[in-house]
Amino acid sequence: MKNLEEILKKRIIVSGPLSISDFISETNLNKKFGYYNKNLPFGKDKDFITAPEISQMFGELIALWAIDCWNKMGKPKNFNIIELGPGSGTLMNDFLRTINSNKEFVKNCNNIFFFEASIFLKKIQKKNINKFNIEIKKKIKWINNLNKINKLPFILIANEFFDALPIKQIEFTKTGWRERMINYDKKKKSFHFSFSNNETLLEKFLPKKSKYKIGSIYEIPIKMMIFIDELFKKMKKEKSTCLIIDYVKNKTFGNSLKSIKKQKITKIFDAIGNSDISSHVNFNLFEKIAKKNKLNIFGPINQRNFLINIGILYRAKMLMNKANNKQKKMILNNLDFLINNNKMGEIFHVISISNKNLNTIEGFNK
Ligand code: SAH
Repeated sequence: MKNLEEILKKRIIVSGPLSISDFISETNLNKKFGYYNKNLPFGKDKDFITAPEISQMFGELIALWAIDCWNKMGKPKNFNIIELGPGSGTLMNDFLRTINSNKEFVKNCNNIFFFEASIFLKKIQKKNINKFNIEIKKKIKWINNLNKINKLPFILIANEFFDALPIKQIEFTKTGWRERMINYDKKKKSFHFSFSNNETLLEKFLPKKSKYKIGSIYEIPIKMMIFIDELFKKMKKEKSTCLIIDYVKNKTFGNSLKSIKKQKITKIFDAIGNSDISSHVNFNLFEKIAKKNKLNIFGPINQRNFLINIGILYRAKMLMNKANNKQKKMILNNLDFLINNNKMGEIFHVISISNKNLNTIEGFNK
């Protein structure tokens, strides 16, 4: 039977070791066997849970944040909303329900773009937002390329998108920096990590430091860097704002590549195409590339403070007022999951980038 393992094995035997970024591209998004093209990963009983899947409050508050942001942007007539990697469409579902009560915002919104690479998830997103009125539904478009966005100011949301993009890794060895590759052992019939034979050009991405330890690993989110450079240039041109929420990478060096199945961390090669492969996100790069493009930076701050700043405690109280005892308990549990520093509150960070015309943004103490 042909599956992803077979395909990757053959590819390595024929053309040599694969870079980690090529491996992730295939395991996550291979058209037929890629993880996001055949699984619905999100949910309490699925492989992993994301903030919008935990509580409706997340998408609702982000919608109110977006409306406030639009006001601060000077209420541009004709603007776009974009979500990167909408998953099952839950965030957008809560978002659209919330904006529906602000007629002025909806009227001026030109398009709502779902930036999605997975054909499988696109179908699920379509089903999930089917209940909205025709005025909203006709604005929704699916894209997989930033060039498809018409030239208007936009407000962009990205929750747990960048951690899913392919990265490269380099490791300091006795013979210098080498790219970490993925190889296949025909005798042992298994995949394993190996090194590039020659020095790697990726060294140029290293932070300046005189001494490195043997075994040090540095991660280069190559796809994210190219993507945000393009995105931020577009933001500069179209006077736009984005909100990025993701797993933060706290240490400069170290291996954050992981695969998750049924809420547990598994070995990368254990369930190729059947587990979610991700890595932590280097927020310094957002700041660096924003500065290069002369944009304003708000944050980063942790998810806990951001959600409290945009009113999650009030929203929870409002929901509790209308809830029975069982529902009250659930609202409190979900709130705790989102803001407790030992749960999602600290491991997720939030940053907003905007053009220079915008001096304050809700949610960040500036
Ligand atoms: N934002 C959602 C889902 C996060 S999972 C949530 O919070 O629940 C990552 C999402 O990004 C999925 O929808 C996945 O299909 C999409 N994705 C991953 N790589 C992508 C790429 N290169 N281009 C477009 N979408 C991608």
